[in-house]
Amino acid sequence: MNEFDLIVVGGGPGGIFTAITAAERGFKVALLEKNKRIGNKILVAGSGKCNLTHTGKPKDFSDKYGQNGKFLKEALNKYSPEMLKMFFKENGLPLVLVEETGKYFPETFSSLDVVDLLKRKMLTLGIKIIEGIKIEGIQKNLEIFSIFTDKGLYKCDNLVLATGGKSYPGVGTTGDGYVMAKELGHKIVPPKPALSPIYVRDYFFQELSGISFQNVKITIWKENKKVIEKKGAVLLTHTNFSGPGILDNSRFVESESQLEINYIGKEYEILNKELIEEMNKDGKKTIKKVLSYYFLPERFIKTILSILEISEELKMAELSKEKRESLVKLLTSNKMEITKVGSFEMAMVTRGGVSLDEVNAKTMESKKIQGLYLVGELLDVDGDTGGYNIQAACSTGVLAGKSMRKKERE
Ligand SMILES: Cc1cc2nc3c(=O)[nH]c(=O)nc-3n(C[C@H](O)[C@H](O)[C@H](O)COP(=O)(O)OP(=O)(O)OC[C@H]3O[C@@H](n4cnc5c(N)ncnc54)[C@H](O)[C@@H]3O)c2cc1C
Repeated sequence: MNEFDLIVVGGGPGGIFTAITAAERGFKVALLEKNKRIGNKILVAGSGKCNLTHTGKPKDFSDKYGQNGKFLKEALNKYSPEMLKMFFKENGLPLVLVEETGKYFPETFSSLDVVDLLKRKMLTLGIKIIEGIKIEGIQKNLEIFSIFTDKGLYKCDNLVLATGGKSYPGVGTTGDGYVMAKELGHKIVPPKPALSPIYVRDYFFQELSGISFQNVKITIWKENKKVIEKKGAVLLTHTNFSGPGILDNSRFVESESQLEINYIGKEYEILNKELIEEMNKDGKKTIKKVLSYYFLPERFIKTILSILEISEELKMAELSKEKRESLVKLLTSNKMEITKVGSFEMAMVTRGGVSLDEVNAKTMESKKIQGLYLVGELLDVDGDTGGYNIQAACSTGVLAGKSMRKKERE
């Protein structure tokens, strides 16, 4: 009989950790995954190395998820990064910290090892994993969920939707969960691509693809108000701004926003003053030479001077006040009109999703339908790069798995 205490729809970290937690409590569990194998998104995570979590305590995580982050407080406290690390250690794949970034990876730096471990763990616990299944409809009648699929009818007392978001559809996440949740009566906050490159009007760094800046100040503006300001790495590509700092900030882009980058780590007044001092000290030095003191890549210096129509060989004494000020402005506060954020095809996560108002943050249970739980990226909460999204999926999954009730079967 295809009857279970729990059916989990979606074999990503959220679904897998729910299934494991419930099975450890003695639940009869099935996990339904539409792909031929579970964990496709884990396989691509961290460029195949799988950045599972980040250094820090749950309270250090709270500001990494933006305003909706408070929804995750209970989940992160009940299943902290320490506990996730312990899980992998106890199951034979310890996580290692990469000090410079604060990211944790499996010691083998292999996503495949993570998926293998999780699959083995589920099979050991007796979880029925059904891959390559198509869900055709879900109904709830008299406390029982019926799941109609191309492989027949499945029934369960508890149902978890863990289908992820809409980004990176190539790995299976095509937003199916939004349709299912909506049909079950849930409100969906319109999904948008996030952790994606930012495109600006009149991008002038096409030729500088590959150049990156570490730990620079990035600000998103809307209607002359600062939306967010975060430091991080910026990568110039052929067509857009990318790199972890840009991806993180992309989560806050709305229509008609602007992107501002400070490439040099100094404020306008300071850099302006320093250039005036250089000019007074030795007016014969070329502007190119002086800019090289700031550790800016040579190709970048050439490009910005050319944009501002300043000759590289121009002597400091010959640099007009007007040109100096536009140079300082470009280096310290290059403000550009954002035309778009990279599409769902390239976005690493989805912003938006099942509205948090209708989900109990202490259990992950739907406030509308008893026995229905919603976990992971499907929810309207998303995090920065660095392991925060997988941690959130695992923590919400474990919380759901711990909270659900088991019915006595005859
Ligand atoms: C390229 C890339 C790199 C990333 N790197 C990292 C990283 O290093 N660290 C990090 O923390 N986060 C990373 N992320 C984000 C992270 O992978 C996700 O936020 C996380 O996997 C979400 O977990 P989830 O369980 O909610 O959903 P997912 O992992 O997306 O899993 C959902 C599962 O549900 C399945 N599914 C969907 N619809 C159906 C259906 N109708 N029926 C059955 N099954 C269905 C999908 O096929 C999928 O297997 C990355 C994302 C991308 C795209």
